[in-house]
Amino acid sequence: MGRKLLLLGPPGAGKGTQAGHIAKLLGIPHISTGDMLRQAVAEETELGMQAKAIMEAGDLVPDDLVTALVIERLAQPDAACGYLLDGYPRNAAQADTLTNTYGDDVIDTAIAVDVESEELVRRILQRAKEQGRTDDTEDVVRNRLNVYQADTEPLIGYYRDRERLAEVDGVGSVDEVFGRIVEALR
Ligand code: ADP
Repeated sequence: MGRKLLLLGPPGAGKGTQAGHIAKLLGIPHISTGDMLRQAVAEETELGMQAKAIMEAGDLVPDDLVTALVIERLAQPDAACGYLLDGYPRNAAQADTLTNTYGDDVIDTAIAVDVESEELVRRILQRAKEQGRTDDTEDVVRNRLNVYQADTEPLIGYYRDRERLAEVDGVGSVDEVFGRIVEALR
């Protein structure tokens, strides 16, 4: 039986990179709602058009839209034996929906990657500068962090209460952090 994992962490924690490495190591699909939503925006689907401005402001897309996307994705055959969820659930309502729909075993381990917030702002603004991404203004970055702290961070307690939490220090090189995650998953 494959692992059913959730990667939790603030924007700028390097979640996407780590998720790719973990999924490859374990041979499970990496299911990223951020990637799926960005694809919908790029393809100008109805969902994409609803999500675009919300994402640009750093706010959360309505739960029912993202939940529908995830339920459809989890029904694909490649997700039958395990997956790594990245970006979903992102608030308590989404976590309850997931648990109520599939049961507690929908996540065997939630990996929380921990980085303090001033370091995150620094990293994200640096990346925006390097990539010429003018959309990542300081205001939007701070809003994303505030949304994370208000809505997503409480999920750490949610999975801790269910004894399904692994906490990992997210400061260090990509390889160092990956090593800690692999260790935590044993
Ligand atoms: P980051 O890794 O920078 O935090 P993501 O790539 O995971 O961002 O997501 C980008 C954006 O997509 C979020 O800021 C949010 O607007 C939207 N989004 C992604 N997942 C969800 C979700 N589960 N619920 C609501 N909105 C979401």
